[in-house]
Amino acid sequence: MASTLETILDANRRYAEGFGEKCNLAMPPARRFAILTCMDARLDPAKFAGLAEGDAHVVRNAGGRASDDAIRSLVISYKLLGTREWFVIHHSDCGMETFSDEVMRGLLAKSLDHAVLEADGWHDRGSGPGTSEGQYIDWLTIRNQEESVLEDVRRLRGHPLVPPWIPIYGFIYDVRSGGLLPVPAATKLGSAK
Ligand code: ZN
Repeated sequence: MASTLETILDANRRYAEGFGEKCNLAMPPARRFAILTCMDARLDPAKFAGLAEGDAHVVRNAGGRASDDAIRSLVISYKLLGTREWFVIHHSDCGMETFSDEVMRGLLAKSLDHAVLEADGWHDRGSGPGTSEGQYIDWLTIRNQEESVLEDVRRLRGHPLVPPWIPIYGFIYDVRSGGLLPVPAATKLGSAK
């Protein structure tokens, strides 16, 4: 059976063979918008938002949260690369809803092996040692999708590095239907001033 590495390189060879005119794409995103969303493997922004190479910036992290690093990317996105509209897209059934900072820190303190999600929560099956380094990270977990979208749009809207003229839209992607559900309170809060 082919390894992950071989499979990826094989797929890439085929992709590069058909690369064609994409060699001429400009660096700034042609459609001038950016999406901040979760790294969840079920989400494919290119497909659910109809993007082609060169169209838009997609900033991804666990939860699609407006972390300092996400803000770093978004500021570069508008300041240097011309985006003028942003979308914050969290999603249903997000893994970030399944734990808290305390739980994550506890799991990491036990071991650096995989943890397992069971009916009553996460369990560490590894044989240590673990580390206390998890204490120093804000894991930006999520309790409620609408609230997390609202919270992140609020943070972006109020951030001193984010100009008031960029509209910020809030959505929840439904992993069961593939649809984008609007979060009107977030989009209202994120409207351009
Ligand atoms: Zn997620």
